[in-house]
Amino acid sequence: MVQLLGVFILAWSLLLGHSPAWAAPPSTIPPEFQALTWTYDSGENSHGPSHWGELDSEFALCDRGQQQSPINLQNANPTDIPNLDFHYRASSVQVQNNGRTLQVNYEPGSYLMLEGQRFDLLQFHFHHPSEHSLEGQNYPMELHLVHRDRQGKLAVIGIMIDRGEENQGLRGVWENLVPAYTPATETSAQINANQLLPAKATSYRYRGSLTTPPCSESVTWIVMEQPIYLSSQQITAFTQLLPANNRPRQSTHGRSLQLDSSP
Ligand SMILES: [Zn+2]
Repeated sequence: MVQLLGVFILAWSLLLGHSPAWAAPPSTIPPEFQALTWTYDSGENSHGPSHWGELDSEFALCDRGQQQSPINLQNANPTDIPNLDFHYRASSVQVQNNGRTLQVNYEPGSYLMLEGQRFDLLQFHFHHPSEHSLEGQNYPMELHLVHRDRQGKLAVIGIMIDRGEENQGLRGVWENLVPAYTPATETSAQINANQLLPAKATSYRYRGSLTTPPCSESVTWIVMEQPIYLSSQQITAFTQLLPANNRPRQSTHGRSLQLDSSP
C-alpha cells in the first residue's frame, strides 16, 4: 500500500509537474491549480523551497531526505559504465504551463535502456537558472527529460542549457510557449528528442530525488557533461514566461557520483 501510494504521489506530481515564484492572487488561479501550495519564493513566510517539508506530511523528504536533488556535480569517479541506449522517435507533443514550469508531453513509444531496464520517456520540462551545477558552475537553464519504468521508478536526464545559436530542435516548442495556468494543449509541433541531446553522451550519474515536492527519492539522475544551446532570444522568451524555478542545491550526504568515461 505504501508502495502504491508512493507511485500515486509520484504520478500525481508528474502530472502536475512543477509552480510560481510570484504568488498570484488566489482568485486569478484556476481551480485545478489552487491546491498547488508550494512555490519557489524565498521569503520567510513563503511556501518556497526551505519550507516545502513543512507544508504537507507527504513532503517530509524535502527536509529530511538524505538523497536529495539537485546537487553540485564534481569530484566524480570516471568509470566505464554501460552506455545510455536511446530509443527515441519523433512525436507530436502537448504543452502545458502550470505556473511552475513549461512541460512538454511526449507520445508513448520512446524510451531509454538503462542497465537492462526500459524507461519510457513521458515528458520534458525546463528550469531557469539550472538546478544542478557542474564543478560549481550554474547555467542559464536546464532541461529535464523524465522517464519511468514499469515499477514506477524514474530516470531523469538533466541537460545544461547555455547561450549560443538558436536551438532548431526546440523551435516547435518555442512557437508554443503558452502562458501560466494553461492545461495540456495539443500542438502541431513535431519534436525529436534525439535532437535535444548534446553531441557527446558522457554523463554524471547518481541516486537522487524529484527536485519538486514530494521530493521522492526514487530517481536515477543522469546529468550530461556537455551543454546544449539556446539563443539569447529563446532564453529571454522563457524567462519572461516564468519566474526563476530552480530548487537550490542540496547536500550530497556522501553519495557517490559516477562520471561515464566513454560515450
Ligand atoms: Zn525538473
